[in-house]
Amino acid sequence: MSRRILTDMVLALLALAGAGACAAAPAAPPVAIAIHGGAGVIERSRMTAEREAAYRAGLAAALDAGFGVLTRGGTSIDAVTAAVRILEDDPQFNAGRGAVLNHDGDAELDAAIMDGAGPRAGAVAAVRHVKNPIELARLVMERSPHVLLVAEGAEDFALEQGMALVPRDYFRTEAREHELEEARRAEAARASGKPSTQLAVPGASSMGTVGAVALDGAGNLAAATSTGGLTNKHRGRVGDTPLIGAGTYASNDSCAVSGTGQGEYYIRQVVAYDICALVHYRHMTLAEAAHEVVQVKLRRSGGEGGIIALDRAGNIVMDFNSIGMYRAAQDSRGRREIAMYRDTDH
Ligand code: ASP
Repeated sequence: MSRRILTDMVLALLALAGAGACAAAPAAPPVAIAIHGGAGVIERSRMTAEREAAYRAGLAAALDAGFGVLTRGGTSIDAVTAAVRILEDDPQFNAGRGAVLNHDGDAELDAAIMDGAGPRAGAVAAVRHVKNPIELARLVMERSPHVLLVAEGAEDFALEQGMALVPRDYFRTEAREHELEEARRAEAARASGKPSTQLAVPGASSMGTVGAVALDGAGNLAAATSTGGLTNKHRGRVGDTPLIGAGTYASNDSCAVSGTGQGEYYIRQVVAYDICALVHYRHMTLAEAAHEVVQVKLRRSGGEGGIIALDRAGNIVMDFNSIGMYRAAQDSRGRREIAMYRDTDH
């Protein structure tokens, strides 16, 4: 065999091997994010085109920020932090600026973040001077040996970490002041025996808690949730949001969940962990587990609200038993949706 033929054969074999290697190259791991802006949506009949467009724009901005982190190769923890920070700064939502007011007229903020790798978690509750509670929750996770810091202790920790505090007025908006007045009036009417339109938790209503769950290219899950809680809540009331397992949970063994709804029910039903436990121990799909907890257990107990959830395969579930849930999702397989009500167009 001539040298030339031999060389050609070797080159042909190498080309074949190369083609084989290409065909067998694994697809890029999926990345995905889902966010919510609360289960307490405005009734459809009262929703104007303008307000709907504003909510959609707010959700889109947060989705783009979070998904952008993932597509640039960033971590799921960075993605959920970026998405939630944008929603905290948007006064339409019940977190950060524009958070609902407690009975005394103050915003008292709760937030939690959890990294499914580890897992690691950080949370803050009842803070009144922290512009972005999700960033403080992350500092608790990354720079303290603790999981949950509350009130002045949490704010002292913020100062120790070099975070600037903001005056309480920063959070107040006219819309929330108006809601508080209405809630107080309804409370007074209830006390005097007149019928009221309030929700099942006495003296409280809510709208617009925010959260995010994400899966990054390294296969790590993360969850983050931030809220002002419930309008007219008692000073010092802490909801499900900052309680790991109730309103926020992430583990690479199962799933990541962020919840929104009447926190007292979420705490009693340990909603976020329950969903992940069903996935982990009962091997349910994420959709089955979410349905079991949100549509069966939570509903049976009288709890109203919803969740967003994500597993390591990139499955996204956004389930709720309320009339709607502001929500959005995007993944590397081409899914992108922004929705509010059960059957809304995307
Ligand atoms: N879960 C929040 C709380 O109870 C409120 C909400 O999601 O709207 O604090």
